Amino acid sequence: MNKVINYLDKLYPNPKPQLNSNNSFEFLIAVVLSAQCTDVKVNKVIKVLFEKYDINSLAFAKISDLEQILKPLGMYRKKSIYIKNIANKIIDNNYIIPNNMKDLIKLDGVGRKVANVVMAQLYNKSCMPVDTHILRISKRLGIANDKDNAYIVEKKLVTVFSESKLNKLHLQLISFGRQICTARKPKCSECELKDICIYEKKS
Ligand code: SF4
Repeated sequence: MNKVINYLDKLYPNPKPQLNSNNSFEFLIAVVLSAQCTDVKVNKVIKVLFEKYDINSLAFAKISDLEQILKPLGMYRKKSIYIKNIANKIIDNNYIIPNNMKDLIKLDGVGRKVANVVMAQLYNKSCMPVDTHILRISKRLGIANDKDNAYIVEKKLVTVFSESKLNKLHLQLISFGRQICTARKPKCSECELKDICIYEKKS
């Protein structure tokens, strides 16, 4: 685990979230919209969305108007309904974004991964949101088993890595998964984890 941490610290000393936002509400919406979409696409859509709406006007927006803006994203019909409902719920909650898993997952379109991202980035809580990159890397490194689902992988990661490292590690692993330990043709020859990596040994 130390080797993983040291290598990722060397590669990505100051990892930053890739989603753009001007406030907590925009960040929450951006994370919800990012399901099964690239951050680049979400950032383009978010810019258009929040030029036209704020939380109050979004709560009364026409779904058909939201669909036009969200169309470049996957599941844009569902997401249009989700974000309108979220705006209404956050207004009902005195404009406060929940800071815990139990209340966050009550919001439309918010599952465990999105809730963990929000808690980590908005409230600086130690969390490990497991996305497709983190799932894949954890299995390749042998931290998790092939059959483990995202929830099990999350539990294993929070057990083996120290709590203080988790938020930074989450961002580092995403960058590592995008740039080096890619789904297809990972760049193992240049990766300094290859001597501890199960995938590389199997290959
Ligand atoms: S050796 Fe290859 S598969 Fe293993 S962590 Fe590095 S890039 Fe990923």
